[in-house]
Amino acid sequence: MYERANRIIPGGVHSNARYLKPYPLFFSKAKGNKVWDLDGNEYVDYFVNHGAIVLGHACPQVDEAVRKQMESGLASGYESELTVSTTEDLLRLIPHAEMARFAGSGSDAVMSAIHMARAYTHRKKILKTEGAWHGTYDYVCASYRPPSDKAGPRKTPRTIPESAGFVKEDVIKSTLVVPFNDSDSMAKIVKKNKKNLAAIIVEPIMHNCGAIMPKEGYLQSVREITRDNDILLIFDEVITGFRGAPGGAQEYYGVEADIATYAKAIANGYPIAAIVGKKDVLEVSGPDIKKGSIGGFGGVIFGGTFHAHHLSVAACKATMAELKDGKVAKHLNHLTDKLKKSVEDIAHDLHSNIRVDGLGGEFTFYFRDHEVTNYREAISTDSGTGARFMKLQKHLQDRGIRFLPRHIYHHGFSYSHTEKDIEDLSLAIRESLANPDR
Ligand code: PLP
Repeated sequence: MYERANRIIPGGVHSNARYLKPYPLFFSKAKGNKVWDLDGNEYVDYFVNHGAIVLGHACPQVDEAVRKQMESGLASGYESELTVSTTEDLLRLIPHAEMARFAGSGSDAVMSAIHMARAYTHRKKILKTEGAWHGTYDYVCASYRPPSDKAGPRKTPRTIPESAGFVKEDVIKSTLVVPFNDSDSMAKIVKKNKKNLAAIIVEPIMHNCGAIMPKEGYLQSVREITRDNDILLIFDEVITGFRGAPGGAQEYYGVEADIATYAKAIANGYPIAAIVGKKDVLEVSGPDIKKGSIGGFGGVIFGGTFHAHHLSVAACKATMAELKDGKVAKHLNHLTDKLKKSVEDIAHDLHSNIRVDGLGGEFTFYFRDHEVTNYREAISTDSGTGARFMKLQKHLQDRGIRFLPRHIYHHGFSYSHTEKDIEDLSLAIRESLANPDR
């Protein structure tokens, strides 16, 4: 299948993150906590569609809502009671949220959030943390995996654009980079650039380096720095959105952002994203009602054929109905804690430095004695090569437990995963680490 795919699709995959050496597996089916590959092998899935499957694959309540919506014939291009009431549902979940707009993908939502921040503040620059992935929009797609010989000083990292095809000089000029969990470095850079700085964008838990948890008080300090300097705070909740708490990281950490972006889990894997935040900020993206223009005349352009696609909105509504009372977050947090504890016991018994960090069913394995606090520490774990993780991944996969064979990546599970799954996983981890030469 890979050979066939590779002839007509670059790398054989439609998203480069799916390419895995020597070739990616191809799958035919998913249900609940499981996936099946083309050869019919069954796996308990710990990839859950890049974290998007929060309830379980093919969740009956969500799929039924989509089927019912299909019968109405409405797809995209019109607003409806569904698009309005689902926005109301979303705003009820997120603390302090006043307005929202649906978009197509996480990248799309982040791009619009940045356009809004720049237009609102009349400033151009943005600041991000080193190692954070916020999607493919040029101005945030920088210093995600900077090579250590090019990344610059630890406290004042260089901006390294991630892709050919970008106007790299513009990205370097417009995007500032700081280490995660270091509010002193952030405060210094902000002080120097405050006249030109529109927003700071942070992933509250830096999942794109695995699971780097914010130190106590870090997110609060970021909020203070932005407030004191009149800069907007954007929380990129594309992964944290509605996993650790029904209102996401804003609720879990008690920090209020000016704009937050969501995608993935808000519709249990159906393609939709949202930009949510303060009314006066969101309104800069609205049509000019007085002039009757659709934007692009001073206001922020915002639109897309598939924005608020009715099938995805129906999935989003049904997903939020499951998330809102907190039972899903409770289960996900309980299983995450159970896994952390089991792995802690394994590490103790086998004198290993394996550890699990994460929240809300999104987590990673690090091979390191201490908690990882930033990108540079993350890439130095597991001797930098990920060889021990790859060995573990292979052992798990041979036992029907599917993790992406990628060092420093966020893994995940859903509401349909059980205590037994975590026990089986823990047992398999113990077996693998107890026999390192096998
Ligand atoms: N922001 C974060 C934190 C993400 O993890 C991702 C995707 O992995 C994105 C933004 C981009 O989302 P999408 O892949 O839907 O464009």
